[in-house]
Amino acid sequence: MSDEVRGVAITGGGPAGLSAGLYLCRSKVDTVLFEQELTGGQALYSPLIENYPGFPEGIGGAELVERIKTQAERFGLEIATFSRVDGIDDGGDMKTLMLENGQVRARAIIVATGRHPRKMGIPGEDEYTGRGISYCATCDAPLFRDRVVMVIGGGDAAVEEALHLVLFASKVILVHRRDELRASDYLKERAAAEPKLDFVWNSVLAEVKGDKTVQSAVVVNKETDERTEIPVSGVFIYVGNIPSSSFVAGLVELDDAGYIKTDETMATSAPGIFAAGDVRANQFKQVIISAAEGALAASSAQRYLERIGARKAYGGAAV
Ligand code: NAP
Repeated sequence: MSDEVRGVAITGGGPAGLSAGLYLCRSKVDTVLFEQELTGGQALYSPLIENYPGFPEGIGGAELVERIKTQAERFGLEIATFSRVDGIDDGGDMKTLMLENGQVRARAIIVATGRHPRKMGIPGEDEYTGRGISYCATCDAPLFRDRVVMVIGGGDAAVEEALHLVLFASKVILVHRRDELRASDYLKERAAAEPKLDFVWNSVLAEVKGDKTVQSAVVVNKETDERTEIPVSGVFIYVGNIPSSSFVAGLVELDDAGYIKTDETMATSAPGIFAAGDVRANQFKQVIISAAEGALAASSAQRYLERIGARKAYGGAAV
């Protein structure tokens, strides 16, 4: 372990982590951000974000997070990509982050690790992931040009991605376990008006079959128990998400679903550890909310550094 002690360490490089980094570095707080893959998070997979203020025509998720990253780096944010944080040792005023290859010490930590797609656990899912099963239409839709594909789920993500898939596929079949979508009214209306989008209601995906790649999906009607095998080339699964919080379990308080509980200042149950964005137990998972929570967590982390008398050491500029 190096002797160096950082002011704030951020885990996660999505909109929450990058915004926190932007705020901290602009206030001249020594900050490092660890991201287990490339920066961007789930927003990378949103083809068009239409409700982030300042972009009247909408903006692609990848472009938006790239802009936030550039802005944060302009103020000196240090970003370590492909650096997974496996655990945190809470030594009070001096915390240690366990990385895959080494340890880093920091005075305060902001957890902004987001969440990852939930798997269904059905036969064929593991076998055909990457060979017809996908969790990201934004990434894989062009592979299914003029093919029939299926989307599972009835939330915002399922509908949004189905509406993206119709740009490529010959037909998109959305399978939902109830008879009504959970998605927002705006997306529901767009889906209802889309001629290439068909709906299979009250049904669940039971199995995905194929040879080298997906050839069909078996769907079961929950009311009649009828099993129908539908020929498709691709299956896109959007049945919710799992918070990426296991590395802080036991350290900070989580809710029943594993999201990190905080107060309104983004402070977790462990002093000096803050949480922001989709990994936090908040009601609305939106990029604008993640960005705002990142800013809030950053401001609270600064206050914390001041409280423990570490602010000067990590940048003395007035906030
Ligand atoms: P979600 O809102 O939790 O929806 C998950 C969907 O999967 C629900 O329709 C659920 O059915 C269904 N489901 C869950 N488990 C299932 C299973 N085992 N088999 C079949 N279906 C199952 O998740 P999400 O769509 O990923 O969205 C998560 C959050 O991100 C939401 O807050 C959403 O508003 C936000 N988001 C917003 C946008 C946007 O604003 N454009 C885009 C993407 C995501 P039930 O409806 O029956 O529960």
